[in-house]
Amino acid sequence: MIDEKKLREDLAYDATFSCVQCGYCLPACPTYVSFGKETHSPRGRINLVKLAAEGKISIHDMANPIDLCLGCRACETVCPTNVEYGKILTSAVNVLAEYREKDRSRKEKALRNIVFHKTLTNKKILGLMGKGLYVLQKTKLNKVLRKSKMMKVLPTSMQRMEEATPTVKLPEKRQAVERSQQEQPYLRIGYFPGCVMDTVFANINDLAIKLLEMGGCEVVTIQEQGCCGALQQHSGEKELAIELAKKNIEAFERYQFDYIVNAVGGCGAALVEYHLYFDEQDPWFGRAKRFAEKNKDISVLLAKLELPFQKEVNKVVTYQPSCHLTNVQQVVDDPFHLLEQVQGVTYVPMEKKDMCCGSAGIYNIVHHAESMLVLDDKMKYVKRATPEVIVTTNPGCHLQMLLGLQREGLDDEIEVRHLVEMVAEACGIE
Ligand code: SF4
Ligand code: SF4
Repeated sequence: MIDEKKLREDLAYDATFSCVQCGYCLPACPTYVSFGKETHSPRGRINLVKLAAEGKISIHDMANPIDLCLGCRACETVCPTNVEYGKILTSAVNVLAEYREKDRSRKEKALRNIVFHKTLTNKKILGLMGKGLYVLQKTKLNKVLRKSKMMKVLPTSMQRMEEATPTVKLPEKRQAVERSQQEQPYLRIGYFPGCVMDTVFANINDLAIKLLEMGGCEVVTIQEQGCCGALQQHSGEKELAIELAKKNIEAFERYQFDYIVNAVGGCGAALVEYHLYFDEQDPWFGRAKRFAEKNKDISVLLAKLELPFQKEVNKVVTYQPSCHLTNVQQVVDDPFHLLEQVQGVTYVPMEKKDMCCGSAGIYNIVHHAESMLVLDDKMKYVKRATPEVIVTTNPGCHLQMLLGLQREGLDDEIEVRHLVEMVAEACGIE
């Protein structure tokens, strides 16, 4: 027997009334544009959530459109009535997860436990995976495995991601404790490396830290921090996401940092919304809000610093923003200000640059076919822009763009680089 009152509360029913059905969000929604169905548009999804809350359709009727939402939140940015789409989506994901939990087989439960609880939250396992990948690439064993068809045991989506993964570098040794308070750095920064980022793109974190230090900051990577919980939150693992948020809040409260900085648009979006996990009356709300306010994307910090731009980077560059950086963190101008300072760069705008590339956390693995439809649309605009370099600000977008170039046979002609790599090269560091 369904408790209708509870269902309406759980489903953010009240928030659905802000939608006036105008449809302004439709052209901004990548799944609507790529799949062409009203049910897979923001307006359609909001209506489905409302109907499910009113008991007019079943919870399972909204499952496919909600599962196939990228969570890019472009609809929020363009909505004239400020619909809280993120809140509505999260509520639907959590309700669906609760309903599905009862029907999950023991095998599915065990798999979710391994992925979300045991692997993504375990820095040692992720570190070992990074080292394993490094050794495979260094010895070229990855290519041997591909030829021997042993990779075929993996799902197609993971095989394609493995092929697109760039050369991995191991992280450098990082400062883990604050220096004497007598030294006066310009800013004290707690650095948040992120899990996937530090497994596949540790060199970008190292460059980000060097740039911050070059700008006069003290940068500390505290050992007590952990996974941001974004992938867990997007997958309906609500309790685990809250637990991870509390661990990070407690870890950083022990230090006196001016800012907590990351170079991962997706993780940053989770960190700046930690307070939304708690009711305003909950003592954790205030702590989470203070934590959230300290979190900044690397581009925001680098734009504040006086960096020694000294070297020309003679490249034709386009920018593919991370949706979570633009739509959730609302960081739009700082990446451009930084690119403008890199001498030699010729910027070419890409049409529909604000449209999600289809990466969206693990969407490109669990909904590979749909993700590729969105990616193929994105690649049409990349080809029209004809850049030599696509600049990104998030590891998920970075890998997805590499995959898109590979699908188009353009991977030898166009590079993908993080904004940090461009700035670092212009400042003469590697
Ligand atoms: S979500 Fe906003 S933009 Fe989209 S239909 Fe509703 S009111 Fe209009
Ligand atoms: S979050 Fe993105 S994919 Fe989902 S409805 Fe909004 S615009 Fe569409």
